Amino acid sequence: MRRLLTHHVELVERPNDAQLAALAAADPCPPERIALAGPSDDPRTLVEVIEDFPAVRGALDWPALLDLLTPLRPRHYSISSSPAVDPGHADLMISLLQAPARSGRGIHRGTGSGHLTDVRPGDTVYARIQPCRDVFRIETGAPVVMVAAGTGLAPFRGAVADRTAALAAGTELAPALCYFGCDAHDADFLHADELYAAESAGAVSLRPAFSTAGTFVQHRIAAEADDVWELLGAGARMYVCGDGARMAPGVREAFRTLYRDRTPGADDAAAERWLDALIADGRYVEEVYAA
Ligand SMILES: Cc1cc2nc3c(=O)[nH]c(=O)nc-3n(C[C@H](O)[C@H](O)[C@H](O)COP(=O)(O)OP(=O)(O)OC[C@H]3O[C@@H](n4cnc5c(N)ncnc54)[C@H](O)[C@@H]3O)c2cc1C
Repeated sequence: MRRLLTHHVELVERPNDAQLAALAAADPCPPERIALAGPSDDPRTLVEVIEDFPAVRGALDWPALLDLLTPLRPRHYSISSSPAVDPGHADLMISLLQAPARSGRGIHRGTGSGHLTDVRPGDTVYARIQPCRDVFRIETGAPVVMVAAGTGLAPFRGAVADRTAALAAGTELAPALCYFGCDAHDADFLHADELYAAESAGAVSLRPAFSTAGTFVQHRIAAEADDVWELLGAGARMYVCGDGARMAPGVREAFRTLYRDRTPGADDAAAERWLDALIADGRYVEEVYAA
């Protein structure tokens, strides 16, 4: 039973409307039924709701409970290494989700990131490797602007390693800028030595932005508008990876501002159309998620 609950179902997610309706239907107690049918901005998880409603708890047997719980969903992580360096090896960059639970009860620890944090050498991790979307494939022959925050750096570390390997094999590279946001140089600037070595070799131009210094990637893009605009003019592709809540909208706005400021007569609507066209052409590609 422990294995079943640990490895096969979601235990810390909030209930959806269908799950609440199923609980209400199973609940023999009218006041509980009314409470379950109430507004669903409740921060409690499904398991917490069941624990808080004694009548429904008594009415649910194990099969009914297992039917109700969502099967464990796979979590996605970007491979942060390059098969050109070692085809038998894959690195990941994981950020542990751990914070006081919104329900006010204890700590919310992410299922996937928590599991991977606890993995020890020799353990088996159940995973499969999926190729990235074709549109996210970063070619060495076209100029590129990479923008990331936090673990969004993962695919770009792989791309920089690809470029470093290509350079060592004598391939001529188009320019690449890599903007990435982290807290501070000595806190979470992961793989700094490797990335600086790649920069020295000519594989990338690194543009870190440190939030403890009050700078986010979109600020640095705005401050270096000339460099970015020049690459855009040369047909650069832009890739944005990581936090979808604040970074990605901020970066979109930085690019729209760049266009507006450098295009005579362009207004907000024209900037919006310009960015939409780049997205439609696959020249502005986002891979974002809740950080
Ligand atoms: C294409 C892609 C690539 C990705 N690459 C990476 C990567 O390289 N590295 C990386 O670290 N992540 C990456 N992610 C994110 C990753 O897949 C997971 O979403 C992340 O690790 C969190 O999963 P988890 O299982 O730890 O958390 P979960 O157990 O899934 O918990 C997340 C859920 O908990 C909720 N929640 C958050 N905080 C609280 C709180 N305080 N109280 C209550 N509920 C809360 C959230 O709203 C969310 O619904 C990627 C995602 C995608 C889609």
